[in-house]
Amino acid sequence: MDNIQTIKKKLILNQSAQFVKGVGPQRIKTLAKLNIHTVKDLLFYFPRRYEDRSNFKPINKVIIGQVETVRGRVLTSSLRRIKGNRTIFTLALGDESGVIYAIWFNQPYMKNVFAVDDDVILYGKVDHYGKIQINSPEYEILKPDEDHDPVHTGRVVPIYPLKMDIGQRYLRKVIKYSIDHYLDNVLEFIPQEIVKRNSFLELKQALLNIHFPDNFDQLAAARRRLIFDEFFLLQLALGLKRKALKETKKAIKFKLKAELIEQFKKSLPFELTSAQKNVINEIEADMGKKQPMNRLLQGDVGSGKTIVSIWAIVVCVQSGYQAALMVPTEILAMQHYETLNKILSPLGIKVTMLTSGLKKKEKEKVIQDICEHKFSVIVGTHSLIQGDIKFKKLGLIIVDEQHKFGVMQRVKLQQKANMPDMLVMSATPIPRTLAITVYGDLDISTIRELPPGRTPVETYWISEKKRQDLYIFLKKKIKDKNQIYVVYPLVEKSKSIDLKAATKMYEHFRDDIFAENRVGLLHGRMKDLEKNQVMQLFKAGDLDILVATTVIEVGIDVPNASVILIEHAERFGLSQLHQLRGRVGRGKKQAYCVLLSEGKSEDSVKRLSAMTKTTDGFKIAEYDLLIRGPGEFFGTRQHGLPELKIANIITDTQQLIVARKEATEFLEQFFSEINDSNSLIAQELAEKFPKTGDSLLAR
Ligand code: ADP
Ligand code: MG
Repeated sequence: MDNIQTIKKKLILNQSAQFVKGVGPQRIKTLAKLNIHTVKDLLFYFPRRYEDRSNFKPINKVIIGQVETVRGRVLTSSLRRIKGNRTIFTLALGDESGVIYAIWFNQPYMKNVFAVDDDVILYGKVDHYGKIQINSPEYEILKPDEDHDPVHTGRVVPIYPLKMDIGQRYLRKVIKYSIDHYLDNVLEFIPQEIVKRNSFLELKQALLNIHFPDNFDQLAAARRRLIFDEFFLLQLALGLKRKALKETKKAIKFKLKAELIEQFKKSLPFELTSAQKNVINEIEADMGKKQPMNRLLQGDVGSGKTIVSIWAIVVCVQSGYQAALMVPTEILAMQHYETLNKILSPLGIKVTMLTSGLKKKEKEKVIQDICEHKFSVIVGTHSLIQGDIKFKKLGLIIVDEQHKFGVMQRVKLQQKANMPDMLVMSATPIPRTLAITVYGDLDISTIRELPPGRTPVETYWISEKKRQDLYIFLKKKIKDKNQIYVVYPLVEKSKSIDLKAATKMYEHFRDDIFAENRVGLLHGRMKDLEKNQVMQLFKAGDLDILVATTVIEVGIDVPNASVILIEHAERFGLSQLHQLRGRVGRGKKQAYCVLLSEGKSEDSVKRLSAMTKTTDGFKIAEYDLLIRGPGEFFGTRQHGLPELKIANIITDTQQLIVARKEATEFLEQFFSEINDSNSLIAQELAEKFPKTGDSLLAR
């Protein structure tokens, strides 16, 4: 293609939307609220839904209560003033079969819109108040001497997502104008080969049809093409990143076989499950290569991810490097610190811990020691990513419960080393097709099997009425040497009130209900030392009941705890509830999860009944995704994904797979040859993912 032509077209599309008829200096500001700035933005502002207004009904055939489209001539029009300075404007419209009325309240200016004998299309819900009428219908006046191209009625009509101040009719008109005058400047950036192979519409045609389709088949074809474009660009970006990573040969090639790992294998406290062994093989293969490992380990709560990560740590340390394990809470840091210490110190590996709760002096010492490589393994919270922390020889990074961290936190820790290997672990497993999109840059390992001897947790959803029965049940469980968690919600907004409620309940339990038992309290505002003491007591079996806030949500492992009672269960998200439930069922005893809730909203009913239906974390994650949608599920800070305009990563998985395949194939040629068609793609990519520092493109 002629290069000058291409540049010209691009320039035209990137002009301010103010060049479009009907968009003035005032309107451009309102459009900006919809993120519309340029002509191109208008063309790519897609409808939210459509209404079929294409079939005109003979007026005497309209059905009361239904939405109908009719066409006729204006017979009369009248404006009446009624009480309170209000107005009614009435239009009588007739065709060969009958007469219908259109009514507008308090819009006196409508009088100037219509003239007798105008050819008019009306669209709206038919009512009957003495006469057959439509209140405030959508309308279109067909001009006799113009080429008839109705925009608002008489066709499949686009309905756009809007914010205040912008009218549906207005935007529709402006977009129609853009399509009529600027569509020609849109450049096809997908190679013809791909378009042909998949029988896609050309981009221009797809854009025309997404806004103003002649019928729903055309619309479906347009959607298919535009969804592909979004997924294709996304997969290209992810693919490029993966490719860049695979091509670096500067990472550490860890020794896989040495004394240390042999010793470690012998000291393992249990036989590994075959799922664990498989994942360990995958990790070792990664670590033995010159390319950095970039792996996500997905496994349900309690599936035994920790020991796998310790394996990786030992491999790292035996090559003389340091390993850092980052976790989201102080309590989990303490637990991991202890577990690691217990397993690793007999092998002569030194472990330390860094959390924000340390005293200033202690902290300075730990930081100094890390810097001098006095410790090979460092467990910590996000305090690990702070500026003053320097590692002497960091080779491996492990992020536990990664869904609790943002991408940038992960990136910051990586920047503390030169090409470290990385393992991120998550107990919120997501379906594979989704994982390859959200974590497209990560290789994925999955543990789908729990260690032997576990029985699924039994889950019950009960109401306040059953509270006394519940206490009887709990007492019986304590008698049988079971330990119990009681969890209280802690919402950021009402933190103090919630904390009080939890503390009150703890006192009530300790002094009244369970006066004969040992009850402890744990929450985030307690000092580290206190937290640790309480946790130690519970772990050692010296507490029967632990009343806690969500500080125990992730990672905590006390195999003898077999009952978890969740108060106000409706206030937790589904994945959160599943995580909490994962605190029990870690030992051989039958475990129970009791959800106490009066929750009646549709959403809470969905969540709570999902909990009673399945204990499979993969299913739970799928439900959660369906209930909340991907945006909320991941939280925008979780992933670096750009917002998708038309594609939906949950419902359009089939198309996602197609796009991924095409993108992978395309990438194989991408670097060998830059030609007109792929240089356009490069530009589209740059537009969609502006900075290379963008979290999506950062490793
Ligand atoms: P998660 O995947 O939730 O992080 P953990 O690593 O905390 O799970 O393991 C849960 C519990 O299962 C721990 O008490 C751990 O010691 C135990 N465990 C892990 N692997 C095995 C195994 N292969 N056989 C028996 N118990 C195991
Ligand atoms: Mg864990």
